[in-house]
Amino acid sequence: MAILSANLASSAALALILVAASLCLIEAKQFGIGIEIGSRGRPRQREFDYFNLALQWPGTYCQRTRYCCPNNACCRGSNSPAVFTIHGLWPDYNDGSWPACCTKKSFDEKEISTLLDPLEKYWPSLSCGKPSSCHGGKGSFWGHEWEKHGTCSAPVTGDEYNYFLTTLNVYFKYNVTKVLNEAGYVPSNTEKYPLGGIVSAIQNAFHATPKLVCRNGAVEELHLCFYKDFKPRDCAGGSSSSSDMLFSGSSCPNYISLPAYASLGAGNVESEVSWVPEDVDLRWVDRL
Ligand code: 5GP
Ligand code: 5GP
Repeated sequence: MAILSANLASSAALALILVAASLCLIEAKQFGIGIEIGSRGRPRQREFDYFNLALQWPGTYCQRTRYCCPNNACCRGSNSPAVFTIHGLWPDYNDGSWPACCTKKSFDEKEISTLLDPLEKYWPSLSCGKPSSCHGGKGSFWGHEWEKHGTCSAPVTGDEYNYFLTTLNVYFKYNVTKVLNEAGYVPSNTEKYPLGGIVSAIQNAFHATPKLVCRNGAVEELHLCFYKDFKPRDCAGGSSSSSDMLFSGSSCPNYISLPAYASLGAGNVESEVSWVPEDVDLRWVDRL
């Protein structure tokens, strides 16, 4: 009898493990996460293949931000960012999926206290929303990026401080804003630029093909990809030299804009910082 109930208990435990593992797989598939089952039956995410440095264009992103609050960099008036800013450094798999929330390590802002100045400037939050953390609760944009992506980059970038430091260094070394500015692609509310021209300017500078994400014909994000030693590489699916083929599935049309000025518009009910429209300084690159 004792043996039978022990058997029943262990079968029930095994069934629970299998159900939990299959639920993890469903979730992993949904979120594009590549998961394996480790030797002790625990889900384990395999190590990533390459890095994706996701940059955001504030001129576009800020057009969809409806509210102002002290931590929203869209609300800094004449000091609002006029360069591509950092969204995150994301570890990716070659098949288009990615790992997420790889360890239980929570974000601790104290660990990056010496980096706060450059982070505020080049990795600001462009929204008032408090993103969810990996382990329940809400936190900062930096906390979200570290827990979701930074913990999975750890085999290469190490701890929280080194994740943020490495990201800043890569961002400064591969200065997309400068490259585009020098090629004549300056922020404008009237000009439209050929997608192929923007891609070529970056290919010529970094010898790799970026990925662009657009919203209503305006660049919202630009992704640069790197091998694990931070040498540039094409973003997944970006190996063709024909921009027609390359961007057939892209959210960008053939002619795209880089908006210079973002009005927060009506409904600014949370405003604590007033939005003061300013003429945008087209010598943006001088600010770097
Ligand atoms: P969206 O649905 O807005 O494209 O992406 C939502 C979120 O999913 C991103 O902010 C990011 O955390 C994650 N994500 C989207 N695309 C990628 C990707 O190519 N690689 C990685 N690692 N994460 C991504
Ligand atoms: P992701 O899309 O990277 O997984 O999630 C980003 C989360 O951070 C979202 O919940 C979004 O509301 C919040 N967030 C805060 N500031 C920013 C920002 O500047 N850019 C983006 N893309 N998301 C931000």
